[in-house]
Amino acid sequence: MADQLIRATAAEGGIRAVGAISTKLTEEARHRHKLSYVASAALGRAMVSGLLMASSMKRPGSRVNIRVKGDGPLGGLLVDAGLDGTVRGYVENSAIELPPNAQGKLDVGGAVGNGYLYVVRDVGYGYPYSSTVELVSGEIGDDVTNYLVRSEQTPSALMVGVFVDRSGVTAAGGLLIQVLPKAARDEALVSKLESRVSKLAGFTPLLQAGKTLPEIFQDLLGDMGLNIFPETQLLRFHCGCSFDRVMGALKMLGEEELQDMIVKDNGAEATCDFCGTVYQANRDHLSQLISDLQAESPPTI
Ligand SMILES: [Zn+2]
Repeated sequence: MADQLIRATAAEGGIRAVGAISTKLTEEARHRHKLSYVASAALGRAMVSGLLMASSMKRPGSRVNIRVKGDGPLGGLLVDAGLDGTVRGYVENSAIELPPNAQGKLDVGGAVGNGYLYVVRDVGYGYPYSSTVELVSGEIGDDVTNYLVRSEQTPSALMVGVFVDRSGVTAAGGLLIQVLPKAARDEALVSKLESRVSKLAGFTPLLQAGKTLPEIFQDLLGDMGLNIFPETQLLRFHCGCSFDRVMGALKMLGEEELQDMIVKDNGAEATCDFCGTVYQANRDHLSQLISDLQAESPPTI
């Protein structure tokens, strides 16, 4: 099944629900960054969290950045997800592996450790909105939920999961259910929702059992006036880096530094952190940048 996101409402618009399947894009990230099991789970959970959060933004071009910085061996991670369904991201230490935690699961919390979660929402104009919360467990799902409840003050249930084994990522995705202000005071509704969500054992077991997103929504919200939107949005791993952008960044180093690279290295190599693409600039490329800089600078008298 293609990676996808669907939206729904319930309780006459008082509940907003978004579900996403992100198996293929998580596998692509694992492959691109050579991620260990625990790093795949950490980055995969953060990527689907970003996509779910970005899905409720309004203006085209809106994006969410999630940065996790912890004192555990993973170091940290960064995810950039858009309303357009594209996502990219990386972890600091992609190769670290830890023994399973007490529940026999990948120890994402142990890999991340204690620290902070930073979220930046770029709505496409003006200053981006940014906020920071302390990590609750480092398991990502709990941390993003805590951010939504505390910082954005929206009662939220977020469930994210990644299943990875020797054959790669075979199931990944998530579910975000939010109670909007007009329904937040309806305590009976909120507690009914809480009890249903708490009965779910996780998101990936549902996918592995062959459930589709509409079926998962139906099970959770079917008797609450569920309205599933007909549009299915496709999701994909995508990075906007390019050779031209790398050249632009190299140009900013200035003439002297570029000359130095030509003499010492006969060129330059740059790797994009987000997608792992390696860009090679040879001496001709660098010489061209120097000529461009010379042409742009005003003549000295
Ligand atoms: Zn890139």
